Amino acid sequence: MNQFNETLENLALLGGNKAVQTDQKDMFKWPIITEEHEKAVLDVLRSGNMSGIDITKQFEAKYAYNLGRKYALGCHNGTAAITGAMFGLGVGAGDEVIAPAITYWASILQAMNLGATPVFSDVDPYSLCIDPKDIERKITDRTKIIVVVHYSAMPADMDAIMVISNKYNIKVLEDCSHAHGTLYKGKEAGTFGAAAAFSLMSGKAFAIGEAGIMLTDDRKVYERAILFGHYIRHNEITIDEVKKYAGLPCGGVKHRMQQLNSALGLVQLKYYPDQMNEINQAMNYFCDAMENTPGVKPIRPSKDAGTSKGGWYFPLFHYKADQLGGLSLKRFTQAVRAEGTMCNPGSNHPLHLHPLFRNMDVYGHGRPTRIAQLPPGTEIDKYLESLPVSEKVFKQVFQVPWFKKYRPEIIDQHVRAYKKVIQNYKILLKEDSQENRDWIPGGYSSFFTD
Ligand SMILES: *Cc1c(COP(=O)(O)O)cnc(C)c1O
Repeated sequence: MNQFNETLENLALLGGNKAVQTDQKDMFKWPIITEEHEKAVLDVLRSGNMSGIDITKQFEAKYAYNLGRKYALGCHNGTAAITGAMFGLGVGAGDEVIAPAITYWASILQAMNLGATPVFSDVDPYSLCIDPKDIERKITDRTKIIVVVHYSAMPADMDAIMVISNKYNIKVLEDCSHAHGTLYKGKEAGTFGAAAAFSLMSGKAFAIGEAGIMLTDDRKVYERAILFGHYIRHNEITIDEVKKYAGLPCGGVKHRMQQLNSALGLVQLKYYPDQMNEINQAMNYFCDAMENTPGVKPIRPSKDAGTSKGGWYFPLFHYKADQLGGLSLKRFTQAVRAEGTMCNPGSNHPLHLHPLFRNMDVYGHGRPTRIAQLPPGTEIDKYLESLPVSEKVFKQVFQVPWFKKYRPEIIDQHVRAYKKVIQNYKILLKEDSQENRDWIPGGYSSFFTD
């Protein structure tokens, strides 16, 4: 294996020098906060206007305009934005909601609060986004909506998904929490479904604290989301059917966004496009350098189709142990991390295997919460999916460094960290073990680390 034109050298894991020698923390620093951001937040703080909605409405208007959507509703986090969207779309007792098994829980778990039954679909083995063919298999008379997640900023297969949506007249909710700026065939994530929701929390690509936003072109969806959790905005409700319940928040929850966050958001909206372009350039540079390297395969859209990962939240690669003599993902990622770069094994665990969706009775209905609102006699077994791709793929991916700056000479060091390990994989095999190979990365709450 001398295709990298590198000399064999000691791995850092085994006492050698690290491949990454230049420690530029701002390569990864996120979000990038300037004096302008600070001033925007301080102005709100000093005026005491934290709980108002005037700044939030400006933020919503800009966000909706950028995506070409009619309505936007700022929320205190992405989970709330998704919950509001689900209620907005009419999800309720006895409904089924289809969602991918590989995602963060907030794409689907709240459907149970609304009385609905989550139904999990398998994912595509390359993109880890929901598999349209499996969606179709999961549709029943009860299916109310399909939740699509553009997982790790990869656009889901929206052409196929929208064909199914139209064929069965079932609406799509896009969870865009990983996909700020993601493009599918030239069209932005969040512009396909009947509604879309984004987390805007600090770890995401568009990061403004604890916040989220819901978007839709359907006035009724917007007003129902307001009805559910935004009582001080009930004066915006115009549709009679929705209006008759206005006055109190029907969901018994408060989803209002903090204006410290929306003020920050207004500034971020100015800078995000440029920041995103730089991330895209840096990540493509890294991925280009890593293509055709044994053992690893970047997850990214094909270049020619007007597709892009936008802000590249949670960049993942596939791991192909068979190309590296069966080297365990655990030992591989340890060795790469020892070189001074980021290499975290695993993705979100498949949700359908968690007890919360298998047998847990959260609210004391006397049967699993997942089927609590279905007709008596409904057995949970009917819903216990077996999803071969989801059950395997989360153990076969790893997270690579999420570069925020395009600095080839620094990125090259990270490329070298990976290639050095790959080139020397045989040395690592010696100390590898069955225990390592059986090891399962991360967990539902311990976040993707070993
Ligand atoms: C982060 C995230 C959410 C929830 O957003 P919060 O702002 O943390 O509530 C929902 N779905 C996905 C896929 C996420 O990654």
